[in-house]
Amino acid sequence: MINIVIFGGPGSGKGTQSAKIAKKYGLFHISTGDVLRDHIARKTDIGKVAHSYISQGMLIPDKLMIKILEDLMRSRVEETKHGVIFDGFPRTLPQAQELDMLLTTLDTRIEAVIGLEVPDDELTKRLLLRGQESGRSDDNAEAIRTRLAVYHKQTKPLMEYYKETGRYHAINGVATIDEIFDQICAVIDKANE
Ligand code: AMP
Repeated sequence: MINIVIFGGPGSGKGTQSAKIAKKYGLFHISTGDVLRDHIARKTDIGKVAHSYISQGMLIPDKLMIKILEDLMRSRVEETKHGVIFDGFPRTLPQAQELDMLLTTLDTRIEAVIGLEVPDDELTKRLLLRGQESGRSDDNAEAIRTRLAVYHKQTKPLMEYYKETGRYHAINGVATIDEIFDQICAVIDKANE
């Protein structure tokens, strides 16, 4: 069993690589962005709250986000028993600390954090391109600017949290999908030894 966090700015390729990792290693893929978009599509109470934050490019408040993640983990014990790839969570220090605590109560831990490192101008270019087809309310110039600012201010400091515990592995996120995946597999295989 291995639990992994995939980390990086918006548009860094987290979703694409997570799907490949989940398939190869038999991990359960949790994308908090997908979970929230599903709530929005189903017009749930959570979806109504989430929409206002997501469309502006802001983060959902920690308390709500952590509760959603905890409920999901506790309701998916069977699916998560071979490990989880966390995509888009944690995004703040309190989320990272809560995740460590939650996994401790479940008798497991995050073994590796894979950081997809991509410069901001490349991220912006990718997100604008994706926006032409994704239909996502946050793939527009204004929300992209906010998402990048939020990433630098609230999410990037997490790197230090994971570096301090020797779990952060930097990957150059500007390469082909397969080249990036090969680098990621090398990290996971080593962590899994
Ligand atoms: P993503 O699909 O990971 O790019 O997430 C899209 C949006 O969902 C983000 O810009 C946030 O508004 C929200 N979101 C996803 N994950 C989180 C999280 N861990 N904490 C707070 N907000 C989140």
